[in-house]
Amino acid sequence: MENENLLAIANEFGSPVYVYDSSKIISQYDRLSDAFKKVKRLKLNYAVKALSNIAVLKLMNSLGAGLDTVSAQEVELGLKAGVKPSNIVFTPNGVSLEEIEEVSALGVQINIDNLSILEQFGTKHPNVPVCIRMNPHVMAGGNSKISVGHIDSKFGISIHQIPHILRIVENTGMRINGIHMHTGSDILDIEVFLRACEILFETAMNFKNLDFIDFGSGFKVPYKLGDIETNIEEFGSKMTKRFNTFCKEYGKELTLGFEPGKFLVSESGYFLAKVNVIKQTTSTVFAGIDSGFNHLIRPMFYNSHHEIINISNPKGKERFYSVVGYICETDTFATNRRISEINEGDTIAFKNAGAYCFSMSSNYNSRYRPAEVLWHEGKAHLIRKRETFEDLTKNQVDVDIFSKVAETT
Ligand SMILES: *Cc1c(COP(=O)(O)O)cnc(C)c1O
Repeated sequence: MENENLLAIANEFGSPVYVYDSSKIISQYDRLSDAFKKVKRLKLNYAVKALSNIAVLKLMNSLGAGLDTVSAQEVELGLKAGVKPSNIVFTPNGVSLEEIEEVSALGVQINIDNLSILEQFGTKHPNVPVCIRMNPHVMAGGNSKISVGHIDSKFGISIHQIPHILRIVENTGMRINGIHMHTGSDILDIEVFLRACEILFETAMNFKNLDFIDFGSGFKVPYKLGDIETNIEEFGSKMTKRFNTFCKEYGKELTLGFEPGKFLVSESGYFLAKVNVIKQTTSTVFAGIDSGFNHLIRPMFYNSHHEIINISNPKGKERFYSVVGYICETDTFATNRRISEINEGDTIAFKNAGAYCFSMSSNYNSRYRPAEVLWHEGKAHLIRKRETFEDLTKNQVDVDIFSKVAETT
């Protein structure tokens, strides 16, 4: 998208606003499909939690993607977007048996990640095929907040507990139709990931009736110049070769599954905010914007870097700014960042704002969540209205139980 397109959107829909470029989502989807085009049965399930607007889910559906969901509500959003239940996988962690049964009854593929629920579900519903989430205990990334495959991670059933799984399967007569892993959000090293895949292949041999193996996600996208990016093409060719030989060993053509979130939507997104105030202190120049971690929490929560451009003055002389929010907390988006000269009233754009940005937003400080706009084939489509005061109050119950202080004293 051009700066002018973004600026026009900020003018038309107000600020702050999230903008998603559909062409980027489509090209990322195509890139991933292409990398695995020599796999006979490939299934890409988009991880809804990255960006869950129904318009985005419809776009994914139109591309042929399924959905990976982590709550009954995400499943409902998917169904509302017109996605078939058979095209949805439910991969929750720590949810109740009731929620799993509720989702399973819709015809959604469930994925169970602990022995207790596996046994309870299998006992009650031996005829429902179930996928199991394994923990291969491989650390694929460096950031413990987003790595979920290590030994003390709460995710998945440990590979050391395969005998327990087999006992439950035998006792209940249930069928395991898929096995799954999701090691975290940061694959830096393809070889490390492939090692985890080997562990999953070995595990798969224990189950005779599989339809698919799902390798989760963790595809890294660049956030700034020089960032390591997962080499999808190299990974695709190595993985394809290995998967196809595995299918021969296994004696059946299985489906190869992935669940990309960030890879598909991160780079499609821009978060536009207006600069309210330039505050010069003795050491720093702050650019205070009309947003905070209520709208974009990744820089504060994960220490993640989002490129910032001044789209009102992209060719201006570069100066150093600390970009901060308007929340009454320390909400620093960027420290001493080189940005072309900012004047009060300018609109700045945060890049890579598609994944885990709007979907992690809140109403903290009683601020409204921003609008969302989808840029599709040269046109801007409003896909979520900015909240209003009514949204803040609609679930609050106005009680009338306090007598006036003046009357009682
Ligand atoms: C969050 C999640 C994903 C997506 O991870 P990305 O890093 O956004 O690609 C995939 N699978 C599961 C089970 C997840 O929880």
